[in-house]
Amino acid sequence: MRQRNLTTFRKLLHERRQELMSEALGTMHGMGETREQFPDPTDRASLEGNRNLTLRIRDRERKLLSKIDEALGRIDDGTYGVCEECGGQIGIERLKARPVTTLCIECKSSQEAEERRRQFS
Ligand SMILES: [Zn+2]
Repeated sequence: MRQRNLTTFRKLLHERRQELMSEALGTMHGMGETREQFPDPTDRASLEGNRNLTLRIRDRERKLLSKIDEALGRIDDGTYGVCEECGGQIGIERLKARPVTTLCIECKSSQEAEERRRQFS
């Protein structure tokens, strides 16, 4: 991948990381995204359900954070944008939409098809 693109993605990933950190802080104080996603109090389940939701979001954020860190590591070691399954280049458009991805669109599609097959067998 070209140096110019790498710089763009590094910046993008750093921004995502920053956003995620402030979201995570918002979650801890019971504010931020969750409130906007569930504005109606009747949509919220019991307090227990809310706590589970918060935990799930924080788990999701944690996973995404480590994916972002891994992606930044791949930029540093020069493997960013390379599909870990087939070794081919991941499309720039796909990376822009999902900068933490490690699979090209073909491998992702076949992986999803495989998961669906497993689910129904
Ligand atoms: Zn691939």
